[in-house]
Amino acid sequence: MKNNSLVNLMGLDYKSLSLFLEENSIKSGFRTGQLQQWIHKFSADSFDVMTNISNQLKNKLKEISKIEAMPIKSESFSKDGTIKWLFDAGNSNAIETVFIPEKNRRTLCISSQAGCAVNCAFCATGRQGFNRNLSASEIVGQLWSAQKSINNNSIKNEDLENKSIIKSSNDQITNIVFMGMGEPLLNYTQVLKSIKLLLDTNAYGFSRRKVTVSTSGVVPMIDKLARDCPVALAVSLHAANDVLRNKLVPINKKYPLSDLIESCKRYIMKAPRDFITFEYCMLSEINDTDNHLRELINLVSQIKCKINLIPFNSFANSEFKAPKIEKINSFANKLLNSGIITTVRKTRGDDIYAACGQLAGNVKNITKIAKHIPLKTI
Ligand code: SAH
Ligand code: SF4
Repeated sequence: MKNNSLVNLMGLDYKSLSLFLEENSIKSGFRTGQLQQWIHKFSADSFDVMTNISNQLKNKLKEISKIEAMPIKSESFSKDGTIKWLFDAGNSNAIETVFIPEKNRRTLCISSQAGCAVNCAFCATGRQGFNRNLSASEIVGQLWSAQKSINNNSIKNEDLENKSIIKSSNDQITNIVFMGMGEPLLNYTQVLKSIKLLLDTNAYGFSRRKVTVSTSGVVPMIDKLARDCPVALAVSLHAANDVLRNKLVPINKKYPLSDLIESCKRYIMKAPRDFITFEYCMLSEINDTDNHLRELINLVSQIKCKINLIPFNSFANSEFKAPKIEKINSFANKLLNSGIITTVRKTRGDDIYAACGQLAGNVKNITKIAKHIPLKTI
């Protein structure tokens, strides 16, 4: 069998993997969990290392399947500890994944699409247009590769420093955010499959609270996620009136703020956290005045939420500017004084262009944005 006709086990959740084994006359039973553990817990990329699997079964699995992540094109290390990987998604497309270590958590920011069709005015990914959805294998493979690479790097470092290769728990990725390239809720099926693997105890075993889907506001899919697999939700608000939001986040023309807020209220009833995070990218003179602040307070006081202010991160040929830090802090303080929990996101990895909204990878835009996105009104 040719390599590309082999089934990639990387993206198969428990149910799909069991089904695949049964279809190939392999008794699934405990095998499914065993295979998942080898692939996801022990980062196996070949069947040869699977010591509790018979040679006969290994040979059979090699004939019909593979374990494969996207090839890594490059790995960049920021002075603040952030790491960015560029993955080869084929056909001249490259997508980006970012590791952000902090004191109490180590977050991996993953991509769900090559490019993005939503075309938000201030986003480098949107600027490139859309090429294609990533498969569940490609989405989960980002975590698989990142964890493997972090482990290898720390082993090298410890080896040099202490002549010991004991893996430290500080290497473990603790949180996953779908905040890389792409709109996760416009690649719903593959994103859902990947979330199931992230949560599965045989695979990565993340709690629902530690996996965050960030969306520009695809209302019907917010409801679907609430029904299928509620995890933490972040909504990219950026404006609290429809006229401005239509310009900044064009999907607002299809799903205006009133619908979006109602869907957030419904989501909270099912969510693992009892609040929604609203992301608000601060753009000087565009959405940072006292009027904007008043509108924002009015809008979000209807709902239990936290606001995360993200200073605009610039990229080549972007027409926006971040407000001065004093202005951002004063905006944050006024929100806090109105009783709204607010944080200002620290910019991480900007020396390697890994900050929020700077992920541009390299996307061969073969699909016109307006043609692809399901927006009749755009
Ligand atoms: N498509 C999803 C997730 C990816 S973007 C979404 O839009 O939510 C992750 C976050 O970065 C979003 O809140 C997005 O609006 C924000 N962002 C995009 N471009 C940015 C930029 N240049 N500076 C700061 N934040 C940006
Ligand atoms: Fe797409 Fe999110 Fe960028 Fe908007 S901000 S263009 S939805 S990736």
